[in-house]
Amino acid sequence: MKFFRLAKESVKFVLLTIFFAVIISLTVTAQESFKENFYDRTLRLTYSIFGDSTSCKANFNGWSIIDGWSGKKKALDICHKESDMMVLITDKATKRIIYRNSYSSLFCEWQTMCFNLSSGEFKEGVMIPFPKHPSIVSVIRNYKSGLKQTLLDLEIDLEKLSDIPSVNKRYPVESLQRAKTSRSIDIVFLPEGYTAKEMDKFLEAAQKMATQLFEYEPFSNYKRCFNINAVLAPSPESGIDIPSENIERKTLMDFSYDTFGIERYIGTSNYWSVSELASNTSWSYAIILVNSEKYGGGGIYNFYSVFPGGNSQILELFVHEFGHAFAALDDEYEEPGNALVPLGESNRDCIMKTLSTHYYCGECKKKVESVIKRR
Ligand SMILES: [Zn+2]
Repeated sequence: MKFFRLAKESVKFVLLTIFFAVIISLTVTAQESFKENFYDRTLRLTYSIFGDSTSCKANFNGWSIIDGWSGKKKALDICHKESDMMVLITDKATKRIIYRNSYSSLFCEWQTMCFNLSSGEFKEGVMIPFPKHPSIVSVIRNYKSGLKQTLLDLEIDLEKLSDIPSVNKRYPVESLQRAKTSRSIDIVFLPEGYTAKEMDKFLEAAQKMATQLFEYEPFSNYKRCFNINAVLAPSPESGIDIPSENIERKTLMDFSYDTFGIERYIGTSNYWSVSELASNTSWSYAIILVNSEKYGGGGIYNFYSVFPGGNSQILELFVHEFGHAFAALDDEYEEPGNALVPLGESNRDCIMKTLSTHYYCGECKKKVESVIKRR
């Protein structure tokens, strides 16, 4: 009997040892697989994209290199959510997918909203970690019908890419908040339509929004994980385009109200300039503040979010739209054509449903947390 008990104890010990070994090896594997396959550098891929409601075409524009990698370092081949666009890196030798990420874009929104028209050119792109070994980078359009269209298949020529100098950091950067961990999530605020004399006004608005975000769970629980910077890049003219009011301004990123004919929707088809400006510092989420008091905004998953810096009613909308951009949270309000509200779930309260609800619901909190934990 004693022998039996001992045997039982040692089985327990062995199982516990195996359990902890698996946990440790999973953590190490996640970090090792990043180090094994990627440098701590970023490749920025830019392309132009155009088409109609059912198909599109992308033309490769170029690569740029940014020092450091601010994106995810865990679950590299798993998407938080399969959204409208997908980028994959396949290792040429092993044919294994070593990186997968999803995002949406203004062009994808154009495809669903402006269905009777042919689009003009949208300058878009995506950032990926710099692979150590010969690889193929694929950009895929995921349609809601289930159709997947490969837009680009690009071979990574490591020798050629290593000749490209890192992106020039032209503008000064002001830190609004420093992370207290080396594995941070990097948010950058960018000014649009603020002249050199108006930079303090931009910084004040950016600080107000950053403070607002960390009043909401789960962001408040993970404040120490976030770096927040602001790029001090002045526009030649003050204010931004409002076509419905015949207002036109020379600005850095071509943001405009009245996107797709919707008065409050602020957007730009020139994402190249957004990512260029953001690359003055480490970033994976860009928040653009436009120099205006007019209500409006927008947030696109893993792409950008944009708000008027001069509107004091905007803080709740900011938390709502940033939910779309950061964690692909769906709108939870019901309106004709909004098929995103799962039946039976529209009764719960959430800032994704009404702006007067000053919290994210449990489901949304979980989604935000899962993005934070993959940093
Ligand atoms: Zn919610």
